[in-house]
Order: sequence, then structure tokens, then C-alpha cells
Amino acid sequence: MKVGVPQEVAPGERRVALVPETVSRLGEGVTAVIAPSAGVAAGFPDEAYAEAGAELGDPWSADVVVKVATPTAEEVARLHAGQVLVAFLAPLTDAAGVQRLAAAGVHGLALESIPRITRAQPMDALSSQATVSGYKAALVAADRLPRFLPMLMTAAGTIPPAKVLVLGAGVAGLQAIATARRLGGVVSGFDVRPAVREQVESLGATFLDLGVQGEETEGGYARELTAEQQVAQQAELQARIPGFDVVITTAAVPGRAAPKLVTADAVRGMRPGSVIVDLAAETGGNCELTRPGEETVEGGVTIVGTTNVPSTMPTHASQLLSRNMAAIVGLLAKDGELVLDWNDEIVAGACVTRQEVAA
Ligand code: NAD
Repeated sequence: MKVGVPQEVAPGERRVALVPETVSRLGEGVTAVIAPSAGVAAGFPDEAYAEAGAELGDPWSADVVVKVATPTAEEVARLHAGQVLVAFLAPLTDAAGVQRLAAAGVHGLALESIPRITRAQPMDALSSQATVSGYKAALVAADRLPRFLPMLMTAAGTIPPAKVLVLGAGVAGLQAIATARRLGGVVSGFDVRPAVREQVESLGATFLDLGVQGEETEGGYARELTAEQQVAQQAELQARIPGFDVVITTAAVPGRAAPKLVTADAVRGMRPGSVIVDLAAETGGNCELTRPGEETVEGGVTIVGTTNVPSTMPTHASQLLSRNMAAIVGLLAKDGELVLDWNDEIVAGACVTRQEVAA
């Protein structure tokens, strides 16, 4: 069985779907075929892949193609019916992309659709990449802030610690909380899922009680708040946000535009020099003033709307993604042959397009 790894072509994408470390762990009879230079932007030269036992060549004819971003129309044209593609396919928002794959007869397995069950945890690429984003968000906030994060006692007097608020405490939010705490900030967190309070507190942060509580789906995600709940949340936050130096937002509801948590008025209430890092920028942003892909300053408040944050730390983002991919490949390879077991909850759950076979 061959596993193909193309060079990513999306602008700014520096990650690669398999790193050399994983190549030798794909299992007996499974060979990786890496497109030349595919790993260079992530810090993995061709020689490292060759040393690990990979072939360098055309990845598109492999039995399974693993990649990061959803394929372009040109890339889909290089795939053939019956082939398996594993990637972030944005199944809830990119109907045209999914349609393209379906028309090509490709078995598309979307990383976003892998069920969040215990057995699938090693395959959970949403979580592995969110870990990178949360960590980086805290570092970017610390970097943009014109003041210290920790409390400092110096001969020139004492500097009080910065106050950090993290909105949305899923995988990225909890990592942002942990990182901001390690940097010495005084951290508060908020999430609409009630189960999160304990996790926030276990990291040494304070849970901000806004009096707004949402529901959790079976998959562990938040349900969208009602219109009244959203208004109540915005009003409560508007009153609290001016007290913080940093606001990191990570709130998301799968398949929906990011909930607007931080209004323009709330930004205007913040002290000059404060920083907002909006990790939901890709889906429109949690802050009304976020410009996706840009960093702006509004009334002295820096708003960071960087998209594709994992790609800014491509080495470890790729390494984690690669381990997720290896676990998925392990599910598809039986004695070095590709076997798609549609009775497997993970294979069936991840599959968003499938080759139609005449009965
Ligand atoms: P996500 O990226 O979809 O959302 C980020 C966070 O935003 C979530 O915690 C969500 O509750 C929160 N949110 C949504 N609307 C909000 C609002 N209006 N205000 C404030 N917060 C809001 O979620 P995620 O980080 O991918 O995962 C969420 C949870 O899923 C995890 O914390 C975990 O409990 C669960 N999970 C389970 C597994 C598993 O069992 N295998 C794996 C990963 C995650």
C-alpha cells in the first residue's frame, strides 16, 4: 500500500501531512511517497524522508493521499476513482469542494468528521492543531502587549501582572490558558459548556461567571446559543472586558459562523495597549472588529486576526498532524493492503464522499 504526500499549495500553508519520524511507523508493507520539497517549509528536507525509508516521487497515484488543506480543482483532477484522500475537507462549509471529490469518485475522509470517541483520540487532528493555536495565541498576545505578563518585583518597584481573559475553553482555549499562566498572567476563562468550569479551574485560572450557560452535543461540541442568550452574553462581556489587558477568543460552533462575543463597544472600552487575539478569525471572528488575516489597531487596542495559526509553527504542527495521519493509515491498512471497513465507526464517520459501486 502506498501513501502519497503532496506539496501543499494553499497560500501561506507551511505544514506537511507526514514527517520523516512517522514514515517508518506506517506499518508493514506501507510505503510513503513524498512529493519533492513537500516538507521543506516545515523543516523536513527530502534527505530526511529518504533516510526514513520514503520514496520521493509523484504522490497522486498512491492508494491513500494524505494532505493538510482541502484539494484545489487542479489537485482533484490528479486523483482517481476509488482512491482515498485524508485531509481537512471542511465538510460543513465547503459544499463545492466536497461535490468535486464526490464527482471524482474519491473516498474522502475528513479530519473534521472523525468521531470524538476514545479510540479515535490519536487521530484527532482538530485537537492536535488547536493545541498549537492556543499556545501560539498566548505567545502572540504576550509579544504584542506593551507591558509584562508576570508580576515583577524590581529595585525600581513592583509591576502588577497582566490580566488575561480566554473566551471559549475547548482544546485551544485550555492551551491558551495554560500558556498564559506559565508566562505569569492572571488568567480567567469562560465557556458556555458547563463541564468546562472544572477544567479551567484545574489550570489555576478563574472561571468567569457570566450567567450564560449553553448545551453540549454528544460529540462534546457547544450548541449555538439562542438570540437572547447571545445578547445577554455580549452585554455581560462588555461590562467585564475593560478590566483585562489581553482577550484571547477561541469560541466556535462547528459549521457555523463564529459567535460574536466581543462587540465594537467592548473594544472601545479597553485600555490603549490592550490586545485581542482572535483565533476564530477564519470563521469570521469572535470580535466584531476582527479583520481575518490582518492585524489592526482600533483606538489603541491591537486586534490580531491571523488565520491558519498552526502553520506559523509548522514543525510541531506537522509532527502532531503526522501522528494523527499514521493512526488513520493504521486503520486503513491490513497486512499492507488498503481495506476500507465501512462497519468501522471511525471510517464511516470520517467519510464524506464515497465511490459509488454498481450493485
Ligand atoms: P471548538 O473548537 O468547536 O470550540 C471551542 C470552544 O468554544 C468550545 O469549548 C465551545 O464550547 C466554545 N464556545 C462555543 N460557543 C461559545 C460562546 N458563545 N461563548 C463561549 N464559548 C463558546 O471545540 P473543541 O475545542 O474542538 O472541542 C470542544 C470539546 O470537545 C473539548 O473541550 C472536549 O471536551 C471535547 N473533545 C473530546 C474529544 C474526545 O473525546 N476524543 C476530543 C477532543 C475534544
